[in-house]
Amino acid sequence: MALDVGPPHYHSRMAAAAPVEATFFGTSSLHVSDGISGILIDGFFSRPSLLRVALGRVAPDRGRITSALSRAGVTRLDALFVAHSHYDHAMDAPEVVKHLGGRLFGSESTLNVGRGSGLAEQAMTRIADGDAHTVGAFTVRPLGGVHSPGNRFPGVIEEPFVPPARASSYRDGGCFSFLVTHPSGAMLIHPSANVVPNQFDGIDVDVLYLGVGALGAQSHRFQDDYWRHVVEATRPRIVVPIHWDNFFVALDRTLRPLPALLDKFATTTEFLRRKSAESGIPVRFQDAFEVIRPFVR
Ligand SMILES: [Zn+2]
Repeated sequence: MALDVGPPHYHSRMAAAAPVEATFFGTSSLHVSDGISGILIDGFFSRPSLLRVALGRVAPDRGRITSALSRAGVTRLDALFVAHSHYDHAMDAPEVVKHLGGRLFGSESTLNVGRGSGLAEQAMTRIADGDAHTVGAFTVRPLGGVHSPGNRFPGVIEEPFVPPARASSYRDGGCFSFLVTHPSGAMLIHPSANVVPNQFDGIDVDVLYLGVGALGAQSHRFQDDYWRHVVEATRPRIVVPIHWDNFFVALDRTLRPLPALLDKFATTTEFLRRKSAESGIPVRFQDAFEVIRPFVR
């Protein structure tokens, strides 16, 4: 496989762009940098326990947020894009922006999460399907989509949202994928395992970060359509599955799949293995804190 896997990249005030590097943090949290500009997708580091999520209230855990960021060597940020405002995508985003700087991009619901945490309006931008946002040499295009089946907390967050709160109060507020392009390549981050047919036709990428949460529980027809409309449409050199890990476990432990009660991970991996073999497109899991150079052949 032609992926260049190296040690963590430590940000510095470099004058010239470095190869684009992508660091994974479980769920759909991904840091992308060219050494000059830094972009974070979601940035969910708190990962409260299942018991707390099911029965209690959740809130950003500053200790977990700062320790994950410092372990990854991320010391500043230009832009944080949130896929939707469920807690496992949006909850930590305002704290990350307060800690690292940068601008929060998201739906109106996500901006209400920002407002509730005291972010100023001038530090936030509402996104819409088809926008193009310039971040240094990167362009980030939010593409509106649909949540994976079984969306337990649909709806919108209508007012500034102050944690701690029940996980169920984090309504999705609309779902986005992100097409991230750079002079050296293109990647699509598609967090939620569902599809708008033909949405990605004509969009070719080098790397596809493919959401697979709950995919194993769907019908074969659904799974095949998903592969066709997302993977075949974007023709990536490589697929990196995301949102497969047990996000009730802290990031200082190795990523592991959700328990079988919550997701059919074995079915998902078998599906990915078969589709990869049929299509010749490699599927490769990325570990937490592992850095890849997605545009280096
Ligand atoms: Zn969600």
